[in-house]
Amino acid sequence: MTRVADLLGAGRTFSFEFFPPKDDATQLSLGRTIAELEPLQPSFVSVTYGAGGTTRERTRNVVNWVAKETAITPMAHLTCQGHVRTEIADILDGYQAAGVENIMALGGDPPADLADRGPSDYRYASDLVAEVAATGAFSIGVAAHPEVHPASPDRAADRRHLAAKLAAADFAVTQFFFEVRHYVDLVNELADLDVTKPVLPGIMPITNAKQIARMARLSGAELPAWVVEAVERYDDPADVRRVGVELASKLCSDLLEAGAPGLHFYTMNRSTATREIYANLGLASLRVS
Ligand code: FAD
Repeated sequence: MTRVADLLGAGRTFSFEFFPPKDDATQLSLGRTIAELEPLQPSFVSVTYGAGGTTRERTRNVVNWVAKETAITPMAHLTCQGHVRTEIADILDGYQAAGVENIMALGGDPPADLADRGPSDYRYASDLVAEVAATGAFSIGVAAHPEVHPASPDRAADRRHLAAKLAAADFAVTQFFFEVRHYVDLVNELADLDVTKPVLPGIMPITNAKQIARMARLSGAELPAWVVEAVERYDDPADVRRVGVELASKLCSDLLEAGAPGLHFYTMNRSTATREIYANLGLASLRVS
C-alpha cells in the first residue's frame, strides 16, 4: 500500500518534505538526513520541484532513489508553470515506470526566465490535477494556504478554488503557519463547501529566525508577535533552535488534538528538529514497532 490516499484512509500519516540537492555535497548531506529519518518510519516523504522544470532531473533522481533504495513511500512534486502537456506526460510516464504512485500537483511560482521557456499548457494547479487524475495511476495531493494565498483576491475565492481543486484530488498539504486556529478555520471553511478530504498541516520548526521571517513574507504566512518575542529573546542560535522546536512541538500536539489527520514536516533537508519534535510528542516510540 503506497498510495498516500490509502495511507490516510488507514490512519494518521507523518511525512517529511525535502528539496532536491544542488550539488554532490548537498546530495551526500540529504542522503544522511534521509538515513537519520528513516528509523522514524515516515508514512511518506515528498520532494519539491523547481517551478518551470528547473529541478526536473534532480527531483526525479531523489524520488526514484527513495523508491528504489529505501523502504519509504515517495511523493513527487510537479508544477504547472513552464510546462506543456507532452512534458508532463513524459514525467508522469517516468514516475509510473519507477513505481512512484503519488504526485503533489502545484501551481508553482513562475521562474524569472519563464519567458524563455515558452508557453505553459496549464494555468492553475487544478489543470494539472485533472491531467494527473486522467492517468488513473497516482494519488494526488494539492497545496492549501490556511492564511489565504497571496494572489487570491479574497478569502472566499481562495477557499472556492481550493475546494474545487481538492474535490478532484485526494488530500491537501498546507503552507506552514504558527497558530492552530488558522488550520481549524481552513478545515471548517472547506467543510462548509462540502469538502472533507484530509488536510495535512505543514510544520516548519523555526531553526533560524531570519530565514523563517523571509519565508513567511513570501508565503503570506503571519509570523505572530508572540513567536517573534519568544525567539528574539535569545542571541545564541542553539537557544533559538531549542525554542523553535518547543513551539513546533506544541503546535503539533494542538493540531493532533484538534483532529488533524497527520503532520507534514518541512525538514529543510535536516533531521535534528524533526527528530526532536518526534521525541517530544512521543511519536518515535509510536512509529518504531
Ligand atoms: P493554485 O491552486 O493554482 O492557486 C494559485 C492562485 O490561483 C490562488 O490564489 C488560487 O486561489 C488562484 N486560483 C486557483 N484556481 C483558480 C481559478 N480557476 N480561477 C481563478 N483563480 C484561481 N512551489 C514550487 O515551485 N515547487 C514545489 O515543489 C512547491 N511545493 C509546495 C508544497 C506545499 C505543501 C505548498 C503549500 C506550496 C508549495 N509550493 C511549491 C508553492 C506553490 O507552488 C505556490 O504557493 C504557488 O504560488 C501556488 O500554488 P498552488 O498549487 O496553490 O496554485
